[in-house]
Amino acid sequence: MNPRHGRWSPAQWRAVAPDVAAIRREGWPVHAICRVCGLQMKVDLARLERTRGPGFVLWGRTSDCRRLHCPGKVVFMARPPRAEGEVPML
Ligand SMILES: [Zn+2]
Repeated sequence: MNPRHGRWSPAQWRAVAPDVAAIRREGWPVHAICRVCGLQMKVDLARLERTRGPGFVLWGRTSDCRRLHCPGKVVFMARPPRAEGEVPML
């Protein structure tokens, strides 16, 4: 384990796993969190790869919150095993 991983920026993690196929290969769990209501949702990476293709990029992307009547957008958070906590996929 590289102790410097704890200080890596999202861009550095993105370089390790730029697309959904690479994130699955690395084994990183990903979830979405709404900036307005705080709803957290598990992201089904296998389904995403099947429906959007292995080159689909979650980095820099937002999506509508799925909670009824919530106008918020979700951001995606990855949890690389080597990172200290979550990495916002900005
Ligand atoms: Zn919401």
